[in-house]
Parts: sequence; C-alpha cells; structure tokens
Amino acid sequence: MNYDVAIAGCGPSGAFCAKLLAEKGFKVVVFEEHEKIGLPKHCSGLIHPRIEDITDISFEEAIENEIRGAHILFRDEELFLHAESCKSLVLERSVVDKIIAEEAEAAGAHIRLGEKANRFERKNDGISVNGITCRVLIGADGIRSEVANSFGLKEKGEIIRGMQCNARYKPGEKENVEVYFGRDVAPGFFAWVIPVAEDRCRIGLGVNEGSASAYLKKLLKKLDAEPDEIFGGGIPIGLRRKSYADRVMLVGDSAMQVKPISGGGVNISLKCAKICAEVASKALEKDAMDEKSLSEYQKLWRKEFEREIRFGIIARRLIYSLNENELRRIFNAPDEELLNKISMYGDIDYPSRIAEPLIADVLAEPQRYINSRYLSLATLMPQVIRAILG
Ligand SMILES: Cc1cc2nc3c(=O)[nH]c(=O)nc-3n(C[C@H](O)[C@H](O)[C@H](O)COP(=O)(O)OP(=O)(O)OC[C@H]3O[C@@H](n4cnc5c(N)ncnc54)[C@H](O)[C@@H]3O)c2cc1C
Repeated sequence: MNYDVAIAGCGPSGAFCAKLLAEKGFKVVVFEEHEKIGLPKHCSGLIHPRIEDITDISFEEAIENEIRGAHILFRDEELFLHAESCKSLVLERSVVDKIIAEEAEAAGAHIRLGEKANRFERKNDGISVNGITCRVLIGADGIRSEVANSFGLKEKGEIIRGMQCNARYKPGEKENVEVYFGRDVAPGFFAWVIPVAEDRCRIGLGVNEGSASAYLKKLLKKLDAEPDEIFGGGIPIGLRRKSYADRVMLVGDSAMQVKPISGGGVNISLKCAKICAEVASKALEKDAMDEKSLSEYQKLWRKEFEREIRFGIIARRLIYSLNENELRRIFNAPDEELLNKISMYGDIDYPSRIAEPLIADVLAEPQRYINSRYLSLATLMPQVIRAILG
C-alpha cells in the first residue's frame, strides 16, 4: 500500500504531524521502533501549559503537578523565583505521547509499532521506507535520526547526556523546582529536582563531560533520595543548518528543535510539527515536494525559534565559561524587586523575552542599578563579548 506521508518516530513531534496531516485527508503511516508509545521514558515532563493551546488537545490525564517557582542553588548561594500563576506543568511524558498518538490514530493515521524505519530507497515517484512507498518522508526519529543520516542531513551539534530517576524524596516546596549549578554537580549543564507528589520527585541532570549516571548517583547520595526507575537520553544543542531535502523533512530532536538553556524540546517540537505539517500539506497538494519547495519549512520554523536558540547558545556559553567567583557575583547581584520581575516575565519556552522588560526597567530607573552589586557585573563584559562572538 502506498502512502502520502511516512513518519519515522512516534514521539510528540511525529505523532502530532501525523494527526495534522491525517486530518487534512492525507494517507499517513508512522513507524515506531518500540512496542509501546512513550516507553522507554526519557523526559522530565516539565512543560509550559501552552502545550494545550499549541495542540488543541487536553492533557488533564497526564498532569502530576503545577510549578510556580524555582529554588536555584550554586554551592551555598541561592536564589528564589516565585510567581502567583502556574509557570509549568509536570506531565507524565509517556501519557502525553500516548494521548497524541491516539489522536493521530483517531484522525486516520496508521501506526506500525515495533518497526524501526531504517531501509530507505529513493524511487522515481517517492521514497520507499521498509518497502512502503510514500511521497514525503518526515524524520521525527529523535537525536540519532536514521532519516537525517540516510539523506545527507547529518550535522554535528553538542549533545548533553541526560540521566534521571523517579525517587522517593520530599521536596522543599511542592510547587517549586530545585535547580543545582556547579561543575562538581553537573558539568556543562545543571541538575534538577522536580516535585511530582508530596514525597516523590523526578531527580536528574545533564552533563557534557564525564558519566551522567555517576553524577546522578552522587547527587542522589547528597540528597539522601531513594531512586526507583532510572532513565536517560541525549539532548541535542545547536541551530541546524538544514532540516529538509528532496521529499524529506526533519522535526523535533532530529532537527535540534530544543531550547539550549533548559534542554526542553516538547513545546518547540510541537510548534515546529505544526509548521512541518502545514508546509508538507501544501507541497503534497501542489505535487511539489522538491528541496526548494520544502525549504519554506525551515524559513518558517527559524522565523519562530532562531532568536531563542541563538540567545540560548550564547547564554549557555556565558554561564559555563564563568569561574566560581563570577558565578557568585551573578547570584548576589539581583535584589528582590528584580527577582520578582524575572518571576513575573520568565517563560521557560521563551527565555529571551525576559530581556526587554529588564532593559526597560534599567532605563526607567538607572539610579536603582548604580550600586556596587550591579556594577560588579560590568566586569563580566569580556566574557559576555566572548560568548556572543562564539
Ligand atoms: C533526560 C531528559 C529530560 C528531558 N526533560 C524535558 C522536559 O522536562 N521538558 C521538555 O520539554 N523536554 C525535555 N526533554 C527533551 C524532550 O524529551 C525532547 O525534546 C522531545 O522528546 C522531542 O520529541 P521528538 O518527538 O522529536 O523525539 P522523541 O521524543 O525522542 O521521539 C522519537 C521517537 O522515535 C522513535 N524512533 C527513533 N528512531 C526510529 C526509527 N528509525 N524508526 C522508528 N522509530 C524511531 C523513538 O522510539 C521515539 O519514540 C528531556 C530530554 C531528556 C533526555
């Protein structure tokens, strides 16, 4: 049987693309290498509530907790951010994936579980995937994308190795996440404690050197937390140069559609999946699936996210280039008023949006910032310039 669209991978981006394209009346097949949707787990499920607006799907069934603030720690320094409203949901990711996949099936997509898409062949009228011909192939197959590798779209980016567990651990506050910085805790990234219930948390970290599981073991010992399920995965960091080829599109982690500061990729993947389905649908209708027609996809998703990804790459470079004293200065600078502003405007999906209200604040009340704590940050200017130049 031939299909209009074949999708490799039934994570959130693949399943959502499948749903949108099947709703438009296209014949869609999705290959998922695992027997069960959403398993094995590899995500903390900390996701901004706008996931429901992006998808127009209710995730009520997957909600475990609501987060309003963060307790950020670096050795003995700490910062508290707290908002009145819910800043993030804690969702059970396997349930999120299942809900989206069920929507895709209900719309008419055919999901082939337990089948890895790995035999690709270009034909005159399309691409053969494991012997099934499609007019367009979408690679939603995650960080080690077979589709990217098979169609000349392999690109090198930084990969953060993530490892986490569900653990018996009483959080400080059920509505606050804890974030730990420091080379001894999580080199090149950070560690997190996400409350799921009164006495349960997801505890994890990312590293760019050393063994993630050894660092996790150390953190669990320090927190005196008792782990049960341990799971992990890679987080791709970078801005992809090319996410399309003749009849081929990449979406989600395979296209590095991930926020470099937090490593979060679910909402951005879903938004890009919407753009991907829109461009694929127009191309299929016009029967124009050539590279030039599909390049529109990259133009559109970059228009939405390039600024955030570039901002995140620079911010990461800056944070992880600072030495202990410089990091301490950053922790000591903000006063309560500034922290309240950050809490109010901070958005895990769009971290750069904090910049505008903060700059406006400095311009409106420059005298408030002319004190030794803020002025000490001026000495970090060379590092900032280095981070911007790359
Ligand atoms: C430790 C960790 C914690 C994270 N925490 C968060 C978080 O709190 N919030 C957040 O927003 N993001 C988080 N992320 C990132 C998030 O998990 C990803 O960005 C997101 O899952 C991307 O979705 P996707 O659909 O592109 O890929 P995936 O979710 O990776 O789905 C890819 C699917 O494709 C399947 N597959 C792969 N290859 C093939 C093939 N050849 N054929 C068939 N099937 C294939 C896989 O089995 C999988 O089901 C975290 C990541 C890690 C590693």
